[in-house]
Amino acid sequence: MDDCIFCKIVSGEVKSSKVYEDDYVMAFDDIDPQAPVHVIIIPKKHLESVQTISNDDAIYLMHIISAAKTIAKNKNVDISGYRLLTNHGRDGGQSVFHLHFHLLGGRNLKWPPG
Ligand code: AMP
Ligand code: ZN
Repeated sequence: MDDCIFCKIVSGEVKSSKVYEDDYVMAFDDIDPQAPVHVIIIPKKHLESVQTISNDDAIYLMHIISAAKTIAKNKNVDISGYRLLTNHGRDGGQSVFHLHFHLLGGRNLKWPPG
């Protein structure tokens, strides 16, 4: 999608610090990290949010989970633990309208989130 920052990261038009890629997804370090490990995992296809994803695109979710496991191992938080989450809409705090999951770890994360 033309004006989407994450589509531009997928195409290479916008630089990112890539930590993982396969045929369906890519992942990069968050530009404004909220924890020692803060990675953004996205489908390469422009999907707006978890609320609008169709069952036909379920394969992207499988690859996101699989990517998260690999990234967690590579970043050494697979044993210590991490949080994998997606924000939807205004109250969820979504600011980029290309589906993405945050992988946060490397410190004790508070619950509930703010
Ligand atoms: P959300 O608020 O859930 O939509 O999360 C969007 C996330 O994308 C935020 O944590 C931003 O810091 C991050 N972000 C926005 N632009 C970039 C970028 N160019 N590279 C890396 N992370 C980004
Ligand atoms: Zn996009």
